[in-house]
Amino acid sequence: MRVSEHISINLKGFRWLWQKERRAVLLIVGCSLLGATKSYIPLYFSAKIIDSLVLRAPVNTLVRYVLLTVGLAFLFDAVLRFLEPRKGAAFNRIFQNERWSYGEKAMQMAYASIEDTEVSVLRERIRMESQTGYNLFYLLHTVDTTIYTVAQIICSLMMTLPFFAAPAVQLWHKLLFVGMLLISVAVESICEVRFTRVSNEFMDECVMENIRFEKYGTYIADYGTGKDIRLYGIAESLLRDWEKGSAVLHEKAKKRSRGWLKADTPRLIMDDAVKFAANAVLIAAAISGAVSVGSISKYVSAVVKLLWAVTYLSRTVMLAAANSQYLKRYFSYFDIPNNMYKGSLTVEKRDDTEYYVEFRDVSFRYPGSESYALRHINFKFKIGEKLAIVGKNGSGKTTFIKLLCRLYDPTEGEILLNGVNIQKYDYDEYMSIFSIVFQDFSLFAFSLGQNVAAAKSYDPQRAERCLQMAGLGERLRSLPQGLDTCLHKHYDKEGVEISGGEAQKIALARALYKDAPFIILDEPTAALDPVAEYEVYSGFDALAGEKTAVYISHRLASCRFCDTVAVFDMGEIVQSGTHRELLADTGGVYHALWHAQAQYYTEKNG
Ligand code: ADP
Repeated sequence: MRVSEHISINLKGFRWLWQKERRAVLLIVGCSLLGATKSYIPLYFSAKIIDSLVLRAPVNTLVRYVLLTVGLAFLFDAVLRFLEPRKGAAFNRIFQNERWSYGEKAMQMAYASIEDTEVSVLRERIRMESQTGYNLFYLLHTVDTTIYTVAQIICSLMMTLPFFAAPAVQLWHKLLFVGMLLISVAVESICEVRFTRVSNEFMDECVMENIRFEKYGTYIADYGTGKDIRLYGIAESLLRDWEKGSAVLHEKAKKRSRGWLKADTPRLIMDDAVKFAANAVLIAAAISGAVSVGSISKYVSAVVKLLWAVTYLSRTVMLAAANSQYLKRYFSYFDIPNNMYKGSLTVEKRDDTEYYVEFRDVSFRYPGSESYALRHINFKFKIGEKLAIVGKNGSGKTTFIKLLCRLYDPTEGEILLNGVNIQKYDYDEYMSIFSIVFQDFSLFAFSLGQNVAAAKSYDPQRAERCLQMAGLGERLRSLPQGLDTCLHKHYDKEGVEISGGEAQKIALARALYKDAPFIILDEPTAALDPVAEYEVYSGFDALAGEKTAVYISHRLASCRFCDTVAVFDMGEIVQSGTHRELLADTGGVYHALWHAQAQYYTEKNG
């Protein structure tokens, strides 16, 4: 990385901090300035007091110096005591906000990016690097120490200026000082470069190990995976793998510690040597009478502080340089654009429900995938119709729905709503016309009512009605806390664990609560018992009402309730028509699927 790149990425970081965390930055600046200058008060005034004593100055001069020393020290301390806890709280908030930013970014990203392996590895990587201190923590540290050390350098220079200006001080003493400063900066910089190289190597070597280690940790502790772990006896091999991963990380961490020690040793030696030399030069200058008695301790302390501040500043600069490659990666995640084209057309609200949707020669490949999940799909359906989509596993049914509701855009071709490419509609408005229940729907550890409404506050009567329609009325009445019952026991010991079928009904109720003109159900009865399945089928017309219903199902019996059936096979629509029409085509896929299922039921029954 070039120097200009280091500077620009750190500046970007500071601007970012300033925009997001102005209060924290101001607190850091305030505390650093006060903390850095505080120690110079007694230094400055003690020299004045000693010189006044030596020169037998009037008592009130002495008293004034003493009062100023005590008063200023008290004032600085009081302000610092007031600011420090606020600074600590502001730091905490920054790291909480950072965690929230990951979530916020994930929500803003195109769905395709979230699924992308490169993006998820990048997210995990920067998350771990941040936990180790890189990114924001080191950026804050850079602000903090730069201000602190620069303030100390200015104060030290102001205090040592008379030493350099004094003609009585020999030139070689002055040069020795400057030489020591330069040498310690050089040693410090070389050591810091080596130190950083060791840290970076460790971080780079451990990316995948860390991610795996973290993932295994969640598998082991997670309640959701606990069942399979126990039933299939995976616990031991998981723990063994986890232990193995931990041993590898431990070995690498040991190697890093050895590397750090090697890199650090010269600067530790250098630190002590420079302090010793500074003291020796000043004592020599004092003995020769070039500096006053009162000034000796002032100069010694100021020079030691100057050396410390200069070396620490150079260390900070090196750390900021090391952090810049991490910051670059950090921002590369937050800068991932959402390339989904988002139009601005409003979705027309029509009373006659005369909408139609058309897939025009649509083909689609998942990001990073070589093969097409959908090929040359040409299909039209009218709003208000009930459409069934059938086909074997992996034939492209869910992908078709994902494209319809813009989780992805087609690789080729276009999808039209009333003749207009769906990309031209306002994204949020377009999304709002769909109520979808995917197979892998998620329910949250919120209250039942909040899960149905997908919102914190909701209309309880409407939520109850939807649960009733979805077939969960009886269960709802059996819950003492009704809609306020928390799902799962993660945060509430009064929470309830629900069965797969009940979960599916809640997801259905959520789709009904949204009351969108399109209702799409992906295998909505897979987890239901036969009675509940029959209820959903027979009550489906009432459930869907005037809405367009798209219904993905393996159970062909459900197709009899629909106006049109589309049959998918290997990413193509190979047949479409009514249940009767398709069944009449004895050479077709539908006929074969129907008879395969009928035979299955007969064999079972027999
Ligand atoms: P169906 O719903 O009919 O079971 P899908 O639409 O889920 O089928 O899948 C169609 C094809 O796309 C399958 O070959 C599947 O492996 C592939 N596929 C599904 N999701 C992804 C994904 N996120 N990334 C890559 N390929 C996928």
